[in-house]
Amino acid sequence: MRTELEATLLHCRNLPSPPGVALQIIALAQDPTATLNAAAQTIGVDPALSARLLRVANSPLYATRRRAETLPQAMAMLGLNAALSLALGFSLVHGLRGGNGTAEQQEQIWRRSVLAAMAARLLGQQTNLKRGEMLMLAGLLQDIGRLALLKAMPETYAALCAEAADNDALLTLERAHFDADHAEVGAWLARRWQLPDYLVDAIAQSESEPAQEPFLRCIQGSGAVADLWLAAAGPSPDARQQALSRVMTLTGHDREALDELLSLMSAAMQEISALFEVRIEHPAHLDAIADEARELLILRNLRQIQDAAQSQQETRATEERMRQLTEQARRDPLTGVYNRLHMEEVLQREFASAGMHPLTIALIDLDDFKRINDRYGHLVGDQVLRQFALTVQRALRSTDLIARYGGEEFLLVLHYSSEASARQVLQRLLEQVSKTPMAVVDGEPIFTTFSAGIATHGGNAEERFQSVHDLLKAADDVLYGAKREGRNRVLLHGD
Ligand code: GH3
Ligand code: MG
Ligand code: MG
Repeated sequence: MRTELEATLLHCRNLPSPPGVALQIIALAQDPTATLNAAAQTIGVDPALSARLLRVANSPLYATRRRAETLPQAMAMLGLNAALSLALGFSLVHGLRGGNGTAEQQEQIWRRSVLAAMAARLLGQQTNLKRGEMLMLAGLLQDIGRLALLKAMPETYAALCAEAADNDALLTLERAHFDADHAEVGAWLARRWQLPDYLVDAIAQSESEPAQEPFLRCIQGSGAVADLWLAAAGPSPDARQQALSRVMTLTGHDREALDELLSLMSAAMQEISALFEVRIEHPAHLDAIADEARELLILRNLRQIQDAAQSQQETRATEERMRQLTEQARRDPLTGVYNRLHMEEVLQREFASAGMHPLTIALIDLDDFKRINDRYGHLVGDQVLRQFALTVQRALRSTDLIARYGGEEFLLVLHYSSEASARQVLQRLLEQVSKTPMAVVDGEPIFTTFSAGIATHGGNAEERFQSVHDLLKAADDVLYGAKREGRNRVLLHGD
């Protein structure tokens, strides 16, 4: 801080100084050997202070089962550190009040301080900090710099306070006039009073950039909450929004947590005003904030419902895509019929459950297919394979399956077909295929025939195979026989 300002403050006879009991409490707070008894004796000297501590111990702020009847009981209930912090707060607020005709401005400062004390305590509670009374005291003392400036330069500072529209504007004016802001002045004063370091730090950083440390964060947030509370009645929605987002930035709260904080403050405010003898009204715009929070909550619930619906839709789309991919993986890309892998899976299943009904397969191989390739080219060969698969698929019953088994080999699975009916089906198929042009090149239709080997598991012949492999091998052997016998024919296992 600038030495000039320091000199002004030091030479000011009005510079606030803690009352004697506060000084003793400060000393006790830094004495590691201090006992509850010694503290009760010190505080007990001041009857008004004792009464306040009793009142706070029995207040709704401390959900106690037992009523404290005496100061030592109250202090035992609160614990030494909490009792000392509270006592120091009360004695300072009481002792620093009054003097040089700036009562209204002083009240304004204390209103903000007391609100901030409450907010700091609740912010700590919401973030599980557990140092409630220390937070409260730091919140309460964060503006003692303003008190010092007001007492040292009543007219100048009162004018600045009147000119400033809000806390940020006040800080800017202070820096312009004194080359220091009230946080610096407050920390300087706290050091002179030999307040504990945590208080000096909290006051020093109360108006700085958002701190990392949770304790400091609570103090910074507490000032913003107090400003939100004290904002002129009925500020424009824009200004309110700005104040709200400032609080949310400093506290890290979302709207819901902030709304909870404000309603907890409202609930405790009467008690706190009485304890510190500071009049704090419940401003009308807080209700507007609460209404807004309720609306936001409804909107958010609505959005959650919408999000859920959307994610359900996305899940469905993903499932559909997965289904498509799985289906794709089962298909032969050239002909679109099932591939060998899938067909073998199907066969394994069918084979395992074949019992009551026969399971018939037919292995089909196009005749002299190489010649088509050689004569017309590979692309025409592909066209023939596609057309062949299509022709077979159209001719089969919907319960029968066709798969591409290899280059120009196809496997049929004919459900519930005995050998005899399978032979009929395949022979009709051969007839139809041989009459259907599989491709047309230069206006000339290309025809093909096939050879087929049929094998039946559990049919009329009562032949049963050991495995799918054996069944396939049987069909393949028969197919080989059909080729050997001259192609363009259908043979049955056992023929
Ligand atoms: P066979 O009557 O003894 O079965 O004679 P084939 O010519 O049909 O039999 P071979 O096994 O000698 O020839 C099969 C041919 O099929 C050889 C191969 O180039 C061709 N081929 C395999 N896959 C494809 C394919 O995807 N597209 C085309 N165009 N040709 C294929
Ligand atoms: Mg062939
Ligand atoms: Mg072949």
